[in-house]
Amino acid sequence: MKIIIYQLGELNHTSVLSHIKNELERILSLPCEIHPTPLTLIPEAKVGERYNSSIILHSLPVRTTDEHYLGVCDVDLFVPGFNFVFGEAEFMGPRALISLFRLYPQFWGEPPNDEVFLERAVKESIHEMGHTFGLRHCRDPKCVMHFSNSIWDTDLKGALFCPICQQQLERNLLR
Ligand SMILES: [Zn+2]
Ligand SMILES: [Zn+2]
Repeated sequence: MKIIIYQLGELNHTSVLSHIKNELERILSLPCEIHPTPLTLIPEAKVGERYNSSIILHSLPVRTTDEHYLGVCDVDLFVPGFNFVFGEAEFMGPRALISLFRLYPQFWGEPPNDEVFLERAVKESIHEMGHTFGLRHCRDPKCVMHFSNSIWDTDLKGALFCPICQQQLERNLLR
């Protein structure tokens, strides 16, 4: 099993992808690579100023059966019924998507902070990849699989799996 990261459209942060790659490798113990060329955001997903997350998610190319995919974009994502989402994933894979748009401290009226921003990007990436490996939302507010209703939930949780989710993840990866 390997993870491929797709850049989708332009990103406002240059080194975020290599940071996500390193942390995915470390935390999930899986090889991870960044697809060499960025993909374009499909225009059909654009609704006003926002993008329909599910349409982008299902547009991500699937190359082989032993890869999972993480799309990273920098536009405001929504799914019908939710004002916004930080990301979305296919349960049991293979595709996941996150947006950086609402992860910048500046978005929330706070001063720019690279460390906070990168930490958020890693947590959201690990969370969505967790769904692709069959993990559901966890009640432990410190577990990376805890559902983030707001950026404060994201900041409160860690980037790691609680022992129960970790065990489940390892079981699912062995299948
Ligand atoms: Zn989730
Ligand atoms: Zn958990």
